This record gives sequence, C-alpha cells and structure tokens, in this order.
Amino acid sequence: MLGLSEKMFQQAKKLIPGGVNSPVRAYSLVAENPPFISRGAGAYLYDEDGRSYIDYVNSWGATILGHAHQKVTADIIHRVKQGVSFGAPTLGESQLAEKIIAHMPTLEMVRFVNSGTEACMSAVRLARGYTQKKMVVKFDGHYHGHCDALLAGAGSGVATESLAASEGVTLGSVADTLVLPFNNTAALQEVFERYGRDHLSCVIFEIIAGNCGFIRPQPEFLSLLQDLCQRYQVLLVADEVMTGFRVHVGGAQSLYHLTPDLTVLGKVIGGGMPLACYGGRRDIMKIVSPLGGVYQAGTLSGNPVAVQCGLTTLDLLCDRSQYSYLSHLSSTLTTGLKKQAERLQVPLVCDGEGGMFGYTFTTHPLESKKDVDQANMKYFKIFFSEMLKCGIYLPPSPYESCFLSTAHTDDDIQQTLRASQQALSQVAEFHNTSEE
Ligand SMILES: *Cc1c(COP(=O)(O)O)cnc(C)c1O
Repeated sequence: MLGLSEKMFQQAKKLIPGGVNSPVRAYSLVAENPPFISRGAGAYLYDEDGRSYIDYVNSWGATILGHAHQKVTADIIHRVKQGVSFGAPTLGESQLAEKIIAHMPTLEMVRFVNSGTEACMSAVRLARGYTQKKMVVKFDGHYHGHCDALLAGAGSGVATESLAASEGVTLGSVADTLVLPFNNTAALQEVFERYGRDHLSCVIFEIIAGNCGFIRPQPEFLSLLQDLCQRYQVLLVADEVMTGFRVHVGGAQSLYHLTPDLTVLGKVIGGGMPLACYGGRRDIMKIVSPLGGVYQAGTLSGNPVAVQCGLTTLDLLCDRSQYSYLSHLSSTLTTGLKKQAERLQVPLVCDGEGGMFGYTFTTHPLESKKDVDQANMKYFKIFFSEMLKCGIYLPPSPYESCFLSTAHTDDDIQQTLRASQQALSQVAEFHNTSEE
C-alpha cells in the first residue's frame, strides 16, 4: 500500500516538474521517495505519514533555531497582522542591516533581496560596474545560485573556455566566467597574470565550500587569493549565503581572517523566510541605484515579515552566543562518526564547523570538487537510506552539507550516532562482500 507521501509525490509530479520546486528535493540521486513534510517542531520534522525525523537539513541551513521557534513564530504573527508587504521603507530593514553590520564589519552597507541567487547575481553586476571589467572567476563545485553567468561548469585545468552547466544558458552568458579548481594556487596565479589587470572584475567563492561536500580553504590559497585581488584591483566576493551566521557569528571570513570587498548572505539571516543580501565596502555599495549607475530593484525586497523573522532569529542567536553550543554538537557528531567508520574500516572523511558539517565516503582529505566526484556513491546511498529508515533526515546528495540547529540536544546526537552505527555496519558489510 502506498503511503501518503508517496501518493502526494505522484500527484505533485503531474503538476510540478519532478514534483518539486528545487531539484535536490526529488531524491533522484538516492532513488527514494521524498517524505512530504507536514510540520516541524524544534529539531524534528513530521511527515504526512506521521513519521518523525531528526532534521539535519534545516531548510538547507536557514532554520538555525530549529522549527517553529516560539519567539520567532510569535514575532512573525505580530508582524503579519500589521500587513505583509508595503513596497515602502520600514524601520526593520535598518535594524536588520545594523545587526548584520555589527557582527560582520567588512560590510559597511547592505542591500536586501529575496534569495541567494539574486544576491550573488547582483554582487557580480556590482563588481563589474565598479571595476569596469567583465570577467568573473568562480571555483568548480562552488554554488552561487542559478543566475546564468554563474551556472558554468568546469573547464579542464586552467579554464580558458567555460561550459554552461545547464541547457538554456548560452555560451555568451558564461563566456566571461572562468571556472578554476578550488585550492589550486597555480591555476589562480596563471589566470590573474593573464586576465587580472585588464579583464577580471571579481572572484566569487565560498570560503568553506559547502555545496560540494564540506571543503576547507587552504591557508596559503586564501592568502594568495587576497593578495592577487589587491594587486590586480579585482574585487573579492565572499559568498557566505551558507556559512554566514552559521559557522561563526562573524561568518567564515572572521574564522579565516579574510577581508572581502563584498559579501553575500542569505539562509540564516532570513531564519527560513525568503531574504538575502549583498553588502561590503561603502565606496562600492554607493554605486548601487538610486545612488549610482548599477541598477538593482525588487518588489518584495526587504519584506517586513521576512525581515522580522531575520531580526528575531539573529537576536536569539547572537546576543546569547549559541555558536559554542552548535560547535559542541557538530564536533560530538563528526568525532563519533569518524570513530565508528574507523572501527568498521569504512573510508570516511568527516568535518564540521559551528552549525554545519559534511561527510564523504573517501580516504583522502578533500581539496576540490573532484575529490567528492571520486567518492563512493554506493556507500552514500546505503548509508542515507538506512539513516532515513531510522528517522534521521539528511541531505539526499553527497554534494550537500548537513545543518544543525540550536534545538538539537545531546540526546538527539546520541540517537543519531546509534543509527549511524547501524548504517555504517551495512556499508561495511557491502564493502567487505564487494572486495572479495
Ligand atoms: C544556497 C546558496 C545560494 C543560493 O541561494 P538561494 O536562496 O537558494 O537562491 C548561493 N550561494 C551559496 C553558497 C548557497 O549555499
């Protein structure tokens, strides 16, 4: 007999491409049916069939206080009752801007938009307008939303030609996008020498890459990147849509002592409502319309309900700094997973920072996307399916990071580790039989 989720998925597939409004939700890689979620409470999700899950997706990182947090919910309801959108300035926008700027000093001004995609697209337009140069460097596997210019796949080695990563993206729209392997100093040096002075407007990147596993930047790579940008007058654009207010109150840039010219934020700053922003140096932000010639606008931008959700979320998160608690949870979990894998002789690389972590079935440390491409997909599928059966809700792709919330408890982590012991044992069993 079909469960309700399965029936709903079949119906949705007739109406919405793949039954989903964002591709990874369809569970295509893991060949499962996605649970349809009816509600969330704290660290838990409940599906339409009445099953409960410990949630490690948290709306892809946005709901850092967990689901339906009492104070956040109350403040949103209060705000909704006063009208949901005006298309006019409201006090909350400055309050949220002030709060963000207070914790992330490299942002001197911010502009709110509705999604990370929009914010990255606008930041690149701004960089091009400011530098009067047209090329953009990005790194293979780093995700900056789905605007055409940033949907470029890998070229080989030092990319001189880019391939579009999607049909419908013209070669023209990605012709000025160069895709390099992350953590590769030689490729970076070469591209700057060739294009830096005359053509390169900005480098956009994830400081800790979270959209192709969990990949840390190497210190020498970061310092070279910052140096080259300064030397060639190329803007450094840190895409902290995922890591901002998640790995640390000052973002990954504060952990790595980085000074980007522009920063892109999303996810946590909206607390689960559609909200993102780009911001940075005042002299750069001052050329955004209406002050300057770089046009950017939005009917619903700075939406009062989304802003309220962001404000209350950041209040609760930063003012009683919750990051040591999040770090405690993620390190308990990643240490536990590593020990289990070691004992079972399953190849597993596992790492985390603050409220996010990743795990990859491979033997060597991760430097760039190709290391994740080479990881064992079969092990991932076995592990994922067993965890789901045990009520542990993880991202259904080895390329996605996992997210904790302040609503998670030590008991939740222990329950997760009991499930992972079982799931990793199944991986080990498969590992052993397939080796014979
Ligand atoms: C999620 C994400 C985006 C895109 O944000 P959307 O709100 O999904 O458009 C951009 N950059 C990074 C690093 C992200 O993690």
